[in-house]
Amino acid sequence: MSLGKPIQLRGQSSRSLQYAASGACTTGVEWFKVEVFALEAFFAMRLITILNQCHHFRGFVYEGARFSPGERTSIEVQLRPRRGSAVICSGCHRPAPGYDHLAQRRFEFIPVWGFLVFLLYRMRRVHCRTCGIVVEEVPWAAGKHQLTKVYLQFLAHWARQLSWQETAEAFRTSWEKVCQAVEYVVTWGLEHRTLGPIQAIGVDEIQYAKGHKYLTLVYQIDAHLTRLLWLGKERTVETFEGFFTMIGKEWAAQIEFVCSDMWKPYLRVIGEKCSQALHILDRFHIMAKMNEALDDVRAAESRKMAEEGHEPLLKKSRWCVLKRKANLTPQQRFRLRDLLRYNLKTVRAYLLKEDFQQFWEYDSPPWAGKFLDEWCRQTMRSRIEPMKKIAKMLRAHRDLILNYFKAKKQFSSGVVEGLNNKAKVTMRKSYGFRTFRITELALYHALGKLPEPELTHEFY
Ligand SMILES: [Zn+2]
Repeated sequence: MSLGKPIQLRGQSSRSLQYAASGACTTGVEWFKVEVFALEAFFAMRLITILNQCHHFRGFVYEGARFSPGERTSIEVQLRPRRGSAVICSGCHRPAPGYDHLAQRRFEFIPVWGFLVFLLYRMRRVHCRTCGIVVEEVPWAAGKHQLTKVYLQFLAHWARQLSWQETAEAFRTSWEKVCQAVEYVVTWGLEHRTLGPIQAIGVDEIQYAKGHKYLTLVYQIDAHLTRLLWLGKERTVETFEGFFTMIGKEWAAQIEFVCSDMWKPYLRVIGEKCSQALHILDRFHIMAKMNEALDDVRAAESRKMAEEGHEPLLKKSRWCVLKRKANLTPQQRFRLRDLLRYNLKTVRAYLLKEDFQQFWEYDSPPWAGKFLDEWCRQTMRSRIEPMKKIAKMLRAHRDLILNYFKAKKQFSSGVVEGLNNKAKVTMRKSYGFRTFRITELALYHALGKLPEPELTHEFY
């Protein structure tokens, strides 16, 4: 096999010796030696050609590649500064005179064909006039990260498609490194995103961790752009005010529509900070409250029937009454039809809920208002406490509910509902989301539509 100029490979000679020692006939060993050498040299050359193609930096040179000594599961690529190139100060991002060298650092690159890839480089320090003696800035790495920027972006990309754990397993890395990757792109994205103008926002709350911990989420729900804008711990007045502090008075003053649920702190903050906007109570949240009430009725009645020794008529009825009619399976539909023959509180509550669906079909606010009043009147006479509570709540917020029709249904809760579902799926995807910080990162990453640093090559 012809080699041309051999590429210098460290560790190669000792390995050849090993092969030589184990060989029996001299000519055979010679041949074997050349073969291994040629393969590695060929491979190193190829890898460097590829790296120069997709991950090239002015002022730096790839010098050689080899398998890590002792193990053949990772590849090390030596990097060095190009002679005469400027050293950049990491404090002020300007060239500065060199000072000294630090020990070699390993930067993890995207793995190839099951091999981990590390770039080896000795960082220099500069003597900068403004910053003093500082470590240099290198274009492939950010701050103290052990992972190269492209690898961080690569992992973060897959962490959006898979769960973080699956990503870690797929690329033979750790959950913590995937987390670092997401943190890197989210931080970059938040610093570089364009916030406004914002026409419409939706406020939502979501449960996280165990117990009753809530997060407040604010979405942008413009026709051309829906994304998570902000999230805060708890669902208090102070939390939600944090959102308005972030976007500033100018953008807040331009918001035209706000969708929210009936949570008091939200109502108060919207009234104060967004008085010019049309405030709409969300269809999705109203129907969710109604379903909660219906479920309470069903559970209480089912319990009572069991206590009194009646036939368990309500067994397995939960989803028949909670799901929208169109989404029922044939079996559930049959079960529902059967159930409706009985004079049960659950059935009456269910009929009230189904009747209320018509409300959303109206176009004119006054007619919708008439329907609402009539529905509330009927429900107040139903003697079903949880449903009466709903009617009282609707009456108390009549104006905000009717704003839905004034906004000509432009910002249907469908958008908020969709985002809410996506947020829940994101939280469910990993067992690691115990802390607020991790939850925050995962949600911004999945729903924030954040910009990402541009790469010269598409690695994924
Ligand atoms: Zn400097």
